[in-house]
Amino acid sequence: MSIPTELHDLSVAQLAAKLKAREVSSVETAQHFLARAKAHAHLGAFVHINDDVTLAQAKAADAAIAAGSSAPLAGVPIAHKDLFVTKDFPTTAASKMLDGYQSPFDATMVTRLADAGCVTLGKLNMDEFAMGSGNESSVHGKVLNPWDTERVPGGSSGGSAAAIAARLAPGVTGTDTGGSIRQPASFCGITGIKPTYGRASRYGMIAFASSLDQAGPMARTAEDCALLLSAMCGPDPDRDSTSLDMPAEDFSRKLNDSLDGLRIGIPQEFFGDGLAPDVRAAIDASLKEYEKLGAKLVPISLPRTELSIPVYYIIAPAEASSNLSRFDGVKFGHRAKDYSDLLDMYKKTRAEGFGDEVKRRIIIGTYVLSHGYYDAYYLQAQKIRRMIADDFQQAFKVCDIIAGPVAPTVAWALGSERNPLTNYLADIYTLSASLAGLPGMSVPAGFGEGGMPVGLQLVGNYFDEARLLNAAHRLQQATDFHLRQPTGMAR
Ligand code: GLN
Repeated sequence: MSIPTELHDLSVAQLAAKLKAREVSSVETAQHFLARAKAHAHLGAFVHINDDVTLAQAKAADAAIAAGSSAPLAGVPIAHKDLFVTKDFPTTAASKMLDGYQSPFDATMVTRLADAGCVTLGKLNMDEFAMGSGNESSVHGKVLNPWDTERVPGGSSGGSAAAIAARLAPGVTGTDTGGSIRQPASFCGITGIKPTYGRASRYGMIAFASSLDQAGPMARTAEDCALLLSAMCGPDPDRDSTSLDMPAEDFSRKLNDSLDGLRIGIPQEFFGDGLAPDVRAAIDASLKEYEKLGAKLVPISLPRTELSIPVYYIIAPAEASSNLSRFDGVKFGHRAKDYSDLLDMYKKTRAEGFGDEVKRRIIIGTYVLSHGYYDAYYLQAQKIRRMIADDFQQAFKVCDIIAGPVAPTVAWALGSERNPLTNYLADIYTLSASLAGLPGMSVPAGFGEGGMPVGLQLVGNYFDEARLLNAAHRLQQATDFHLRQPTGMAR
């Protein structure tokens, strides 16, 4: 394949090589992407840009490269979901509650990617506090899907996915609590991976549901995701007590391994009535592609798949209700203007600061944790969560990875009258891997209704990210879905 010449068409890997060879400077690259982000501002992907900060970082990267820097991603521009705190840009979690908030420190993900040589282009739009699937609940406004600007980009990492699809950045960060990397990646035709819970430090990632939240990279290719993930993962014992004591790993090391004999588990529950025929056709075709590559398809069952919805929508709101109690107008962001006493200030601040979906989750979470309901809901959900994790372990006795759709449909229309339950039900295929803490990814697998992208979900056993990336990379060598560009987008 010929190497593209436009900077925004280069992959992270290609750009890193060009920067290292000093065929292009980091300043030049950053300027190109900043101009592009501004030219495509109508997509709503970026929420904070600061040319001076970015160009200063790029200048420093150029100096480091000139001095022979060994940083793997020296000078490569990326952007962060606005859920990661940054000392050089505002951080809002797309909420009015964090209006005007400026963090005194960087999230570990931000620091690690900077240590790997990356330059930050800015912060990306998302659903408020990462709760949602369509990126329509942001205080900064909605994000448009570059493939069809009348459709949602998915969520909650919708700005991240749209930025990659529109080539406004070669790589970005996202977060996934119940599908927020995989689902927008699927809706925007890009690649994204959520690692095993505990691989990526949660320090400085604004907490939604702490037992589920995980950071991960989103890019066009599996190769790029492997490069970014290698920089992101590693222990952070002093700052995140759930970060695993496992050394940083080179997730690119297995990319080119043969898939001969790979056993791919196909869960029957992922191919039931709710799956749209266009999505199913694309998934079936990519599974055939895997057979051509030497893999064997093995029928499996994940019998509690349906239960993952009520379980997740009890546990995640429960944890959110606790995590979001810190936003009370005293320390961070928004504070109501007129109030009579402290209690009144708390109430008014929270009533004004949080949007509808966030309030709904806080109310549900508070309810399921309250005396008398804790055993009936929260404890019960925790027990079923364990059973869901056990089901995966049963499945992994007969297969190496699991494959299926990411979402039941392609991206839906912006502004469609979806009630919250419709959105919750559409998370059916992504929630179980999150509840089990397993790594999962979305890989472009073709196109469905309206020419919209379809994502194939790959789920691996704990710590098997390198194998997932290998399977994704081999598929990408046999197909070109990840290289296609949204039509009708001004270059
Ligand atoms: N759509 C899911 C939710 O609304 C997942 C969100 C996420 O992973 N952050 O909770």
